[in-house]
Amino acid sequence: MNTEEIISMSEKYLMYNYGRIPLAPVKGKGAVMWDAEGNEYLDFVGGIAVNSLGHCHPAVVDAVTRQVQKMLHCSNLYYIEAQALLARLLAENSAMDRAFFCNSGAEANEAAIKLARKYAKKKYGRGKVEIVTTLNSFHGRTLATITATGQPKYQEGFEPLPGGFKYVPFNDLDALEQAVGPATCAVMLEPVQGEGGVYPASRYYLEGAQMLCREHGALLIFDEVQTGIGRTGRFLACQHYGVEPDILTLAKALGGGLPIGAMLAAKEAATTFRPGDHASTFGGNPLACAAALAVVEEMLSHGVVENAASVGAYLYDRLNRLAGKYDYVREVRGLGLLLGMELAVAGGDIVKGCLEQGLLINCVNNRVLRFIPPLIISRSDVDRAVEILDGVMFEFRPEKK
Ligand SMILES: *Cc1c(COP(=O)(O)O)cnc(C)c1O
Repeated sequence: MNTEEIISMSEKYLMYNYGRIPLAPVKGKGAVMWDAEGNEYLDFVGGIAVNSLGHCHPAVVDAVTRQVQKMLHCSNLYYIEAQALLARLLAENSAMDRAFFCNSGAEANEAAIKLARKYAKKKYGRGKVEIVTTLNSFHGRTLATITATGQPKYQEGFEPLPGGFKYVPFNDLDALEQAVGPATCAVMLEPVQGEGGVYPASRYYLEGAQMLCREHGALLIFDEVQTGIGRTGRFLACQHYGVEPDILTLAKALGGGLPIGAMLAAKEAATTFRPGDHASTFGGNPLACAAALAVVEEMLSHGVVENAASVGAYLYDRLNRLAGKYDYVREVRGLGLLLGMELAVAGGDIVKGCLEQGLLINCVNNRVLRFIPPLIISRSDVDRAVEILDGVMFEFRPEKK
């Protein structure tokens, strides 16, 4: 099919739950994708922080190809070798002890919420059920995770929502201190808010959150679905801060494109669940685990995380120079290769302009251009992207209108 046919069939048969961009990529390699007509796009979206090794990385293609020929699915009624290996690899590279595998970020967070509730119930009895999250956060699209998400736009129309969630402004330790108390079973935070507009937490805030949790017997949950697996220039974003949570969730980049999520927990929290407490038919299936094993091994042994740190710093610098050039840029912020450029105007036209010039970026919270390219990009990829962006930003500068 050509692009036009793909789009028109999609418009007829798919639900309207996505505001889609008129592009239908059919092939990818590294940081580049092509549509059916052979047009090339430099991919600074990377499947929304999923394709961290780029498209069709040979290590992932090999691992998946080999696993497909051995076994696709096996029930969690049995032991699965790749699952054990992946759980060990994640434990060895975090301060977590045990893993539960599922298929997405929302499921990982859903599992974290259930674990925190069960832990508090077992340890402290009734009444300790509240989960404190932050305004502007994003934790997923299931009913419990839209409720954990501190943005009304994701909740409206889906009421009644599950109870027991409380919201506080992000990076405001006083507000967190006011909200956390004897009824709190967990505090759930993103070390860098992603969908909410790319806001990194301060060290002071995360350290304070950990102290408050300890003081009140609450678990600290880090949602690293977007920030985890090298994205911020460390394997986990929390490693920048030296703050270890009790529960940590992963998904997006973990499977290199195959759907897999993980909920990791440390110490006592890690042994809370008993048979029957939680489950997933597909969670941790051999194929997804084989892909994730290849992704994590490749990242840790081939300097991919270091590349994210150094190329991320380079991109940050280049974006800051654009910010100096165009006074409708408010701020550039982020960590590693999770960067945002906040504009004083809506960013939709710039995203469209870049698409026409062969660069894919996206925009969150209406005004924040987000840059989440594959972690394997080079400085020359950054130069190419910034050159296109510069041209488009010049074209769309508001003072021209
Ligand atoms: C994307 C994201 C989720 C949801 O992940 P899905 O796989 O879409 O369910 C949850 N938390 C954060 C921080 C995310 O960025």
